[in-house]
Amino acid sequence: MTVGVRKPAVFLDRDGVLTEERSYVTCLEELKIFPFAQMCVEQIHKKGYYAIVVTNQSGIARGLFTESQLEEMNRFLIETTGVDAVYYCPHHPQGKIERYGIECQCRKPKTGMFEKACRDFAIDMGMSFMVGDRAGDVIAGENAGLQTVLAESGYGLARLEAEVAPDHIIQDLRELTEILVG
Ligand SMILES: [Zn+2]
Repeated sequence: MTVGVRKPAVFLDRDGVLTEERSYVTCLEELKIFPFAQMCVEQIHKKGYYAIVVTNQSGIARGLFTESQLEEMNRFLIETTGVDAVYYCPHHPQGKIERYGIECQCRKPKTGMFEKACRDFAIDMGMSFMVGDRAGDVIAGENAGLQTVLAESGYGLARLEAEVAPDHIIQDLRELTEILVG
């Protein structure tokens, strides 16, 4: 664990929050980063938070794209938006690629990706946020003890898979800075 001052983090879902939501983004050409994403990450940093992406990418387990294709997308996402890190879950219990077709501890709403981030960064989890566009993101945030923010910029509230009670609802990431203290 890093010694020093802990900083809070804004954990961000990728699809529907930083990039346009589509069921599976299989390659770099399909990754459409919102034009406001870079500015929003800059504001998150200015407010004193890490900006860390946590994303379920079961398309890997389903054989739709490879882990190295995703890593290429991750590098591009980091270069373009300035986020500090990208954590992803490649698994799915019904995945057809054997090594990824497992019940893992990292697929949201489980908290494995948050725990991994906490090993790499000195994060004040009690002051941190999870921003996502789906019910699973809100539940994952609750499971990790975070304040939860639901963004309408992805699937939209009408398509939520489960009833959830996020702490905040925003249209898109541009409204987040009103919520962040600091
Ligand atoms: Zn996983």
